[in-house]
Amino acid sequence: MYKPIIGLEIHVELKTETKMFCGCLNPSASSGQAASSGQEEKQPNANICPICLAHPGTLPKANKKAVEAVLKLGMALNGKIPETSKFDRKNYFYPDLPKGYQISQYDKPLVLGGELKDIKITRVHLEEDTARLLHQNGDSLVDFNRAGVPLMELVTEPDIKTGEEAVAFAKELQLILRYLSISEANMEKGQMRVEANVSISKDDKFGTKVEVKNLNSFRAVKDAIDYEIKRQEEVLEKGEKVRHETRGWDENKKITVSQRGKEKAHDYRYFPEPDLPPMDISKFDLDGLRAQITELPQQKRERFIKEYDLTPEQVEIFIENRDLSDYFETSVSELKSELPSANCQLLYNYLTSDIRGLINELEIGIKKLNISPENFADLIVLAVKGEISSRIAKDLIREMHASGNDPRQIIKEKGLGQISDEKEIEKIIQQVIEENPLAVEDYKKGKQNIIQFLIGKTMKNFKGRANPELLKKLFEENLSK
Ligand SMILES: [Zn+2]
Repeated sequence: MYKPIIGLEIHVELKTETKMFCGCLNPSASSGQAASSGQEEKQPNANICPICLAHPGTLPKANKKAVEAVLKLGMALNGKIPETSKFDRKNYFYPDLPKGYQISQYDKPLVLGGELKDIKITRVHLEEDTARLLHQNGDSLVDFNRAGVPLMELVTEPDIKTGEEAVAFAKELQLILRYLSISEANMEKGQMRVEANVSISKDDKFGTKVEVKNLNSFRAVKDAIDYEIKRQEEVLEKGEKVRHETRGWDENKKITVSQRGKEKAHDYRYFPEPDLPPMDISKFDLDGLRAQITELPQQKRERFIKEYDLTPEQVEIFIENRDLSDYFETSVSELKSELPSANCQLLYNYLTSDIRGLINELEIGIKKLNISPENFADLIVLAVKGEISSRIAKDLIREMHASGNDPRQIIKEKGLGQISDEKEIEKIIQQVIEENPLAVEDYKKGKQNIIQFLIGKTMKNFKGRANPELLKKLFEENLSK
């Protein structure tokens, strides 16, 4: 049996207001001018200046916020923050690189080590993104909007064994980046790009490493790694050798395709960036940055399971959707203030099925829902106390969203309350018994199930508002007479 050995290199565009070495707006920022104007992102070469275009005589200046973002991530991953760090030039020639070199970090990255989901992290460093090349009708166009966007690179140790593990790691990293407001890390938008180094081996020696690129979704990460493991096994089984190369993932054919050989190692001739002074990390407010690290996804999972008595599977929706989770927590505290003994399960069920169904149907976020957590908690109180049936609760949710009113007011206005008046129910039961003599006869002969038919007839009379337990009890009493 072959053992797969996988390491990841993950690039992430940081959502700072401005670019890495100049004052141009960062199109990857989710807030601020660049995003709110909405224009810059679509219009090519709008966010550019002599610095990010590498005009002669210009000087870069490092973006402090970008450095702080990487330091913060390093702390969250329990990495080591060194005392000093510096930028280096990585030299290569390509049309997407205006300077002819990329400012990156070589031997003194901002973060060393760390761990996430039992996978060791080698390093995290900061560099600048390249321009975007567009190939159309035989022409190649360059859009420099992306040139100089702060780009973080995280490299893992080869601790990963399956495509699934790689995805779990990347997903957790994405959550942490979002929780720390470092990046939206949206893979489809290219804000997070994953490359996998895959090799297989029968013993403890490393096999020949193949680098897999073009992984634009979590699905692609998993499929490409699984495919590559199988491909390498087949190559070795045929007695051939795995080539040291870069391969791209072909999303349509679901295969990896050779892009370029790596027989000749690249010589990037790294050397210290002379235009940027080395960084003294002790000059950063590290305690202040540490204090900005609030609850991380894993801590939140543990707290939710304990505090709200939910299962790990139930909690996951709140880990991914923080607006929904805030709504849940506020609603629960409202519920507890009225009914201290109530458990959260019913509220969880209505929130994740009915409320979520409604906002999905309307294609709005929970923030646009016209039901305040207080009113939602009131609805749950009514349901817990049995004052409304689940049928009514479902209708109420729609009415509440449409009017913004609290459920008691709607019940009063629309006469939706559950009917628990024995005399009123008794009257209709007598009527139904008289109108259905055959069913009553069958029941008395022992066909107990027919009671459901009679209950249904009665319920229809009350438009679903009769208390179902009371209805059943009264029928049983009447039919045994
Ligand atoms: Zn610029």
